[in-house]
Amino acid sequence: MPETANQSAHAAQPGQAQDPQDAANGTGGYAPNYATARQQFLAAATLAGVALESLPHPQRGPDGGELAIDLAWLGPRDARRVLVLISGTHGVEGYQGSAAQVGFLGHTASTLPADTAALLIHGLNPYGFAWVRRVNEDNVDLNRNYLDFSRPLPSNPGYGQVHTLILPEALTPAALGQVQQQLVDYMARVGKAAAATAITGGQYTHPDGIFYGGQGLCWSNRQLASIAGRYLQQARVICVLDHHTGLGPVGHTELICRHPAGSPELALARAWLGPDVTSPAAGESASAVIDGNVRMAFGSLCPHAQVVSVCPEVGTAPESQVLAALLADNWLHQRGAPLSALGDGVRQQMMGAFCPRDAAWRAQALARAMAIHRSALVGLSSVALEPLALDHA
Ligand SMILES: [Zn+2]
Repeated sequence: MPETANQSAHAAQPGQAQDPQDAANGTGGYAPNYATARQQFLAAATLAGVALESLPHPQRGPDGGELAIDLAWLGPRDARRVLVLISGTHGVEGYQGSAAQVGFLGHTASTLPADTAALLIHGLNPYGFAWVRRVNEDNVDLNRNYLDFSRPLPSNPGYGQVHTLILPEALTPAALGQVQQQLVDYMARVGKAAAATAITGGQYTHPDGIFYGGQGLCWSNRQLASIAGRYLQQARVICVLDHHTGLGPVGHTELICRHPAGSPELALARAWLGPDVTSPAAGESASAVIDGNVRMAFGSLCPHAQVVSVCPEVGTAPESQVLAALLADNWLHQRGAPLSALGDGVRQQMMGAFCPRDAAWRAQALARAMAIHRSALVGLSSVALEPLALDHA
């Protein structure tokens, strides 16, 4: 992304200091910016006495600060049952996911069952996290990017029909009003499901568009492959929980499970996590069927393990509000000056769409996440594995 002449404006970046309202609301763990989220995660992990590793990202945040994926490993390194918690696959959604991880470190980490470990991946897309964007440094959606790029890429002809609406020339209220009406008309014409697939299903033709999947495996996803190779090859059963926000009824946590209908993994997810588990393939989910999903890569990255992957997805705001934020964010980074007063406003809009400031929403989402973590640990313990060989030495 080109740098702009307004770089010095970042001194006025919102939320650089701890917001007194957050403290008053008791929303501990919800950070106002990436640097604070990272500090809170590292502090909680250090307090829990767990092993840490940081993987530096080559770029910087809007405040000039360092970016990294941070890893915390809890429990025995040879544990055969592993819970993987991911935050920030979609950058801005990491504000909620990070709070969930900090909650896990503070409250659940000390009660890991036998033969069980947890791997916490903080800020998988640290660039998007810091810049309050859903996408990464290449405008790529990580969850449309985990593909074999030597093969033909998924086709989404519908996206081409809406791209000019999605990236208007100007970000004025009049232009946005017109775009929203045209998108409503488009949805009425092709139907809600076809429109959702066109807009959000992923596209590989417009690098300046939304839900762009890229042309090669992106930095974060290459790191993820390395992380799985180094940390997860001893595991025999893995539960991946990739925390997301922005879809579905406000305040409700849907557990999106993309394992095939009838698969043992989908059955395990339902048995462990209960009736909020939904299958997009069966038409049960608020989410479209998509290719290139990050958490579904763990199956091939960990061939010795049975992997159950689920996305806790917390609804934040009406769809139209979330889409408006995504359009503004995309416009800002394609046509605008990210480090400007307008940029600050768009980042506020993105936070509102993906991590509402409402204390009740935050508390409910956090409590639900922590209950899901506990259920996943119980579920992992319930899987029958070969008895461990006793060491008589
Ligand atoms: Zn997401």
